[in-house]
Amino acid sequence: MINLKDLEYGELEELLLSMGEKKFRAAQIFKWLQLGVTGFDEMTDISKPLREKLGKVSFVSSLAIEEKYVSAVDGTVKYLFRLPDGNCIESVVMRYHHGSTICISSQIGCRMGCRFCASTIGGLYRSLTAGEILDQVIFAEKDMGERISNIVLMGIGEPLDNYDNVIKFLHNINNEKGKNIGYRHITLSTCGIVPGIYRLAEKNIPITLTISLHAPNDGIRRTIMPVSLRYSMDELIKACAFYADRTKRRISFEYALIRGVNDSMENADELASIVRPLHAHVNLIPVNKVEERDYRKGSRSEIDAFLHRLTSRGVNATVRRELGADIAASCGQLRKRAAGIKDGE
Ligand code: SAH
Repeated sequence: MINLKDLEYGELEELLLSMGEKKFRAAQIFKWLQLGVTGFDEMTDISKPLREKLGKVSFVSSLAIEEKYVSAVDGTVKYLFRLPDGNCIESVVMRYHHGSTICISSQIGCRMGCRFCASTIGGLYRSLTAGEILDQVIFAEKDMGERISNIVLMGIGEPLDNYDNVIKFLHNINNEKGKNIGYRHITLSTCGIVPGIYRLAEKNIPITLTISLHAPNDGIRRTIMPVSLRYSMDELIKACAFYADRTKRRISFEYALIRGVNDSMENADELASIVRPLHAHVNLIPVNKVEERDYRKGSRSEIDAFLHRLTSRGVNATVRRELGADIAASCGQLRKRAAGIKDGE
C-alpha cells in the first residue's frame, strides 16, 4: 500500500494515468491531501468508483495529536504527534510578526550522537517518509486553522541522513498545487554530512542551509559531535563554500554556547576566522540543559561577551531568542519521555 503523500506530484499523475484516469485528477487529490483529509471519503469531488480503486492500492496518512502545549509567554505551540505505528515525533510552531514558522522532524530519533542533544539519546529508530514529514505541516495547519509560511528542518533527526525523502518532501511542499511554500522560506539544518551538502548544492533547490557547527576547531568538535570524526572542519567549510557559490545563498551556522567547552574569547576568535570568509551569519544558542548531560550555558554577560567578540571581528551574529521556554519547546525532550527512552539505550 502506498501512502499517497509519499508520491511526488508527477508520480501521483502517473498513478492516476495507470488507472485509466485523467491527469487533472491528480490536482484534485493532491489538494485534498494538503488539507489533512484522513480518508478517501472526504474527497467529495472524486467519484466513488475512483475512491474505491485508490483505496485498494493506497492510503492517506495522518498524525494524531498526542500532546499539545501552547506557550503563555509567546504563543509558541508544541505538538507531540503520534504516527500510526505508535512512534512519536515533535513539531513546534513559532509565531512571528511576519508569519508562522514550523520546526519539523525528519527522523524518529537520530544516529548522529551529538553529546548535547536530547534527540540522539536512544539512537535512530527509523527515518520518516516524505509524506510523514509533510504531515507535520498539514496537521499543524489544520489544528491551528492558519497558514504556516516558513519551514525549518531543525526538529528531531538529521535531514541529510534521510536525503531522498527530504528532497521529495521539499518538492511537494514547494509545489504550487499544494502548499506552495517558496524554497527561500525553508531552512535545512545539518550537523555537517559533507556528501549530502554537495548533493544538495547540485539540486538547484535554493533553500537556506544552516550548519550546526558548535565548535571552532576539530579538537573541540570531536569531543561533542561524533560526525566530525568522519568529516573534518576543513572539508565541511569547503562544502559550505561550494554550496554558497552554487546556490548564491548565504550559509548560516548554529553555535550552541556551552560553558567551559567552546565559549572562550579564543574560541570566538577562531570561529570568526572560519566563518568570516563565507560572510555567514552565526546564530548563538545558549545550550539548553538536557537532563542526562552536564553541559551548562554561560551567564548572560558571558554570552554577550562572546557575541561582541564575534561582531567586533566583523562577523554577523545574533543570540537566538528563546521561544516557548515554558513548554520545553526545544526538541527531543517530549518524544523521549513518551517513549520512555533513557540514556544508554
Ligand atoms: N540534525 C540537524 C537538525 C536537528 S538539531 C542538525 O544537527 O542541525 C537542531 C539544532 O538544535 C541543531 O543546531 C542542534 O545542534 C541544536 N541542539 C541540539 N541540542 C541542543 C541543546 N541542548 N542546546 C542547544 N542547541 C541544541
